Amino acid sequence: MNEERRICSVCGEFHPQAEMELAFRRPDLVCELPVAEREADCLESDDICILRKEHYFIRAVLPMPVADRKEPYRIGLWVEVDKVDFQRVHALWDDPAQADEPPFAVRIANHIPQLPQTLGLSASLQLTGRTTRPEISIGDPAHPLYTEQQDGIDMGRIDEYNHLF
Ligand SMILES: [Zn+2]
Repeated sequence: MNEERRICSVCGEFHPQAEMELAFRRPDLVCELPVAEREADCLESDDICILRKEHYFIRAVLPMPVADRKEPYRIGLWVEVDKVDFQRVHALWDDPAQADEPPFAVRIANHIPQLPQTLGLSASLQLTGRTTRPEISIGDPAHPLYTEQQDGIDMGRIDEYNHLF
């Protein structure tokens, strides 16, 4: 079937394949801050956030294999890392060999609606390259997101993710 002309199982419309991917703009903790506090206490960009020099966040992607499709589906998520790991990632930011670095232990910093709590879920973060976002591997085998990443998802599940926001 030509994916470009596939009818969305949620809304019945056509969506070009690349049109939508679920992505969180900022870590939940940052989004929940009152504006004045956020301006005073949070250093933020589309790649990193530092809150009160206590919380260190990095933007990453969670790739999931898709049945009958070469390209994985990627959810844009933030992870929280320890300060020492954040400094290490920062030091490697422009390093062409950064993908050789072993993965970092991280916590997911967003809750994905309609799943058991994903905020704080343990995961690992693998650097991938200078121009590509780091990739997340979910670490908790008891969580459905772990199963989806291991076993893959189908196009109907992608439709559901794309319509969460
Ligand atoms: Zn739709």
